[in-house]
Amino acid sequence: DVLSKQSLPTSTTPYVMKTAYLPDHHRKKILVTGGSGFVGSHLVDKLMMEGHEVIVVDNFFTGQKKNIAHWLHHPNFSLIVHDVTEPIQLEVDQIYHLACPASPPHYQYNPVKTIKTSVMGTLNMLGLAKRVHARILLSSTSEIYGDPEVSPQPESYWGHVNTIGPRACYDEGKRVAETMMYSYQKQNGLDIRVARIFNTFGPRMHPNDGRVVSNFIIEALQNKDMTIYGDGKQTRSFQYVSDLVDGLHALMNNDYTQPVNLGNPSEWTIAEFAEHVQALTKSSSQIIKLPKSTDDPQQRRPDIQTAKRELDWEPKVSVDEGLKKTIEYFAAVLREAGEIIPT
Ligand code: NAD
Ligand code: UDP
Ligand code: UDP
Repeated sequence: DVLSKQSLPTSTTPYVMKTAYLPDHHRKKILVTGGSGFVGSHLVDKLMMEGHEVIVVDNFFTGQKKNIAHWLHHPNFSLIVHDVTEPIQLEVDQIYHLACPASPPHYQYNPVKTIKTSVMGTLNMLGLAKRVHARILLSSTSEIYGDPEVSPQPESYWGHVNTIGPRACYDEGKRVAETMMYSYQKQNGLDIRVARIFNTFGPRMHPNDGRVVSNFIIEALQNKDMTIYGDGKQTRSFQYVSDLVDGLHALMNNDYTQPVNLGNPSEWTIAEFAEHVQALTKSSSQIIKLPKSTDDPQQRRPDIQTAKRELDWEPKVSVDEGLKKTIEYFAAVLREAGEIIPT
């Protein structure tokens, strides 16, 4: 029973902090914007373990210092507390540009700031990449497909987005960020990569970020009501974070420059998913229905043929395996916070 285990890994440091030795000519200087966030911090772990020099630029809007605390004193690691909407001059070989709030409550909290982060932040990173001739990868999103009329969604689908709804600050911000990437490629010959990331979960998701996986797990662990927004028939496809990190890394180090979907095609209705989390946690929570969110996409499932063909990538971790690790993580977080965990 995962809930009764007392010797869980600490919430932040499941890694052995041993980095590979890379000779100078193989060691890259890699900038990760948003590197203290959920996805960014796992990517930082991979790049550090490979022996690269890693610079994190983050303003800690949704990121947490504890996600990268285990690297703070490593000689290959630097942290710059900085907002990407302001210019910055650095000397780097590669840029993984992830800085942007990603969960609906976070990106809707200050929509103007979300747009500035996508537009001005991506512009600054492109200006930087241009100046130092760095390769730059944008973490775009399945949200650029909006409420899709085709399923699964291939990269060739242009999307169905409401330009003035509550999700627009994020969706349209990422769409224009993609447009800027290809404009700089065309006009200035920039070396670009674009990942379209589908719903991803795992340890280090912010407990309050309001995404469905963290909400359901935390509610279930505390035997509180599990909250479905709408009728629960909408679908999502869930990818474990280590698969995403492998995909981002494969894309960065590949020659393919068109957008690539990275996601796990395992598709669930939100109602099925709630019941599944309830069963895995052996929770006595009730599943309740709350009003539907405005413009909520009704279906989402990645077509990953491009990633398979071009990157030889596909997800390896099953949703259940990933959920078990994530449940253990949140159980540890709740225990550290002194919240009561059922036995
Ligand atoms: P997150 O909120 O955990 O991480 C975002 C990071 O960016 C945080 O550390 C935050 O502090 C930082 N940040 C935000 N605004 C910034 C600014 N103006 N300047 C500097 N730093 C700033 O979210 P995440 O899930 O790790 O998402 C990372 C990236 O992946 C985002 O670009 C997101 O759009 C994209 N993405 C994530 C998912 C997912 O399911 N997790 C899906 C699609 C796309
Ligand atoms: N920029 C940056 N760091 C750099 C180079 C550029 O932050 O090392 C910013 C720059 O301030 C500008 C943006 O990136 O706002 C776009 O730069 P670009 O050179 O493409 O445009 P320009 O400066 O000519 O408007
Ligand atoms: N959702 C839900 N209960 C929650 C959080 C989310 O039913 O507590 C629903 C939400 O309305 C959406 C789906 O779960 O239909 C995924 O939401 P999330 O915020 O995780 O991601 P996104 O909508 O950006 O894919």
